[in-house]
Amino acid sequence: MAQQELLRQIPKMDEVLARPKLSGAASPARVALSAREVLARLRGNILSGECHRLPSLAELDDMILAEIARENTPSLRRVINATGVILHTNLGRAPLAPQAVEAACAVASGYSTLEYDAEQGARGSRHSHVAGLLTRLTGAESALVVNNNAAAVLLMLAALAKGREVIVSRGELVEIGGSFRIPEVMEQSSCTLREVGATNRTRVSDYQKAIHPEKTGALLKAHTSNYKIMGFTQEVSPSELAALGAEHGLPFLYDLGSGSLLPLSPFGVVDEPCVSECISAGADVVCFSGDKLLGGPQAGIIVGKTAYIEKMKSHPLARALRIDKLTLAALEATLRLYLDPELAAAQIPILRMLSASPASLREAAEKFAGLLAPAGEQVCLSEDAGQIGGGSAPTQLLPGTVIAVTPRAVSLTELERRLRSCQPAIIARIAKERLLIDPRTVDNTDFEYIAGRLCAALEREANW
Ligand SMILES: *Cc1c(COP(=O)(O)O)cnc(C)c1O
Repeated sequence: MAQQELLRQIPKMDEVLARPKLSGAASPARVALSAREVLARLRGNILSGECHRLPSLAELDDMILAEIARENTPSLRRVINATGVILHTNLGRAPLAPQAVEAACAVASGYSTLEYDAEQGARGSRHSHVAGLLTRLTGAESALVVNNNAAAVLLMLAALAKGREVIVSRGELVEIGGSFRIPEVMEQSSCTLREVGATNRTRVSDYQKAIHPEKTGALLKAHTSNYKIMGFTQEVSPSELAALGAEHGLPFLYDLGSGSLLPLSPFGVVDEPCVSECISAGADVVCFSGDKLLGGPQAGIIVGKTAYIEKMKSHPLARALRIDKLTLAALEATLRLYLDPELAAAQIPILRMLSASPASLREAAEKFAGLLAPAGEQVCLSEDAGQIGGGSAPTQLLPGTVIAVTPRAVSLTELERRLRSCQPAIIARIAKERLLIDPRTVDNTDFEYIAGRLCAALEREANW
């Protein structure tokens, strides 16, 4: 049929909207929106010569229903993290404890005491909700919370060392990912970076020699979160830097990155100092993330000496970087769990996943494998290691048992794609020619769903 004829025969919008199957599916306005999209695409395909036959009205119904479904699928949606990487940055880092979710929901749908003191009946401060918890949990004098830790570093430098030199070890000029690099943040805060030492070794005398009475604004230490320098190395301890800072009247600022509120060695994590240790070592200001090892919402937490915290609070950037009420509610609830370390360990998902024993992971993997009987010999258990992720303890592997899948009827990449296309998507990892599903980061209640989808995805059928 000629192109012009095909175009003429495309059904009119009124005709489409009158289709019973569509009018039952959504409101007329909603159907029209998707129908317009589908008809425009059809027109385009006819003009480009890709389409030589008009779909029937029934086929058109289905195309429009599919378009409605596609447009109604949220872009930001839940996925199942079967990678075993606990703080997966691309998958949203830390899942929240139920108490944190509940607290965020409670303030989301109504009004709250965000900046209201209900006892005095007067204006309050949004900082007041977590400051007391943070000072108790870290031993610091004062606390302030902003949008994320990148914002915390920016504010800290801008408020405390603007226009002056900040001395940092060459071994700590870390890039976190994206565009967050210590030297670049320094520039944005109008500070001058003064690098000292060598990549692998820095001594306290290197800092000492770089101090200039008029030029120096602060001493900075940054935790090398996502990399580790090994071999012939030396770094300056927080207590040495605190002493040096005190001697010269300079603030010692510590960007701790992950920043745990509990000692993590019982969880098997080394090289991640806990915040209270840094405060007792004498750091003047320490900043860290809310959604890394702390296991709360995205936030930048700053604790330290009152004079410095007050200076940051009154800096114009503090308003630009301020934390939102939903985050604040979730953070407050998460911090309250830490008042009882046992409760924190039991309720905060990150801590639970970190401390899952090899025996419990083996048991979970076996239970899961039991649901995979239809897959037969394509599935086996394998010893493997999960990771912390999120730029924390990069060399640390967490031993456990995973489900290893070797598909027969489809390729490995096709299997991985199929699982990703599920709703909710199942994100697995491929290693050594097998698809791995790590129970460490999967909620037990999702096993049945994953097993069902996995068994279906192993079939040859192409309609995925
Ligand atoms: C992760 C990290 C940051 C950035 O924190 P966000 O919460 O992701 O903004 C800054 N510094 C260090 C050392 C980090 O590890």
